[in-house]
Amino acid sequence: MSDQGDLHGSCLCGGVRYRAALPVFHASHCYCTMCRKQHGAAAGSYANVASAGLVIEQGAGLIAEYASSADGRRDFCRVCGSTLFWRSTESPDRVAITLGTLEPEYGGPVERELFADNKPAWRPRG
Ligand SMILES: [Zn+2]
Ligand SMILES: [Zn+2]
Repeated sequence: MSDQGDLHGSCLCGGVRYRAALPVFHASHCYCTMCRKQHGAAAGSYANVASAGLVIEQGAGLIAEYASSADGRRDFCRVCGSTLFWRSTESPDRVAITLGTLEPEYGGPVERELFADNKPAWRPRG
């Protein structure tokens, strides 16, 4: 079976590799305080895909999960700290994968800005 058209990603240390089946339902920049804290950045940037299409190709044992809220789960590499996935236990059929870990670079549109009123003044400007 071909995986052409899938998204491919990896963490900073290369220990975790994954692929995710298209389509992307939507992509977003989230400026909520939790995303800003976890990413150490102005926003968390994600592509929302079907969790059934997410395959951890390498390094599943390196993935740690943090419960950031009652239903929010944040997966990251325990070696290098790369943020990988966000999921909600209330929507187990979907998972959000971090745009910054995708290779090649994500080429789709980013349709949504979440918690836009929480954008920091120091964010990068286009
Ligand atoms: Zn890593
Ligand atoms: Zn957020």
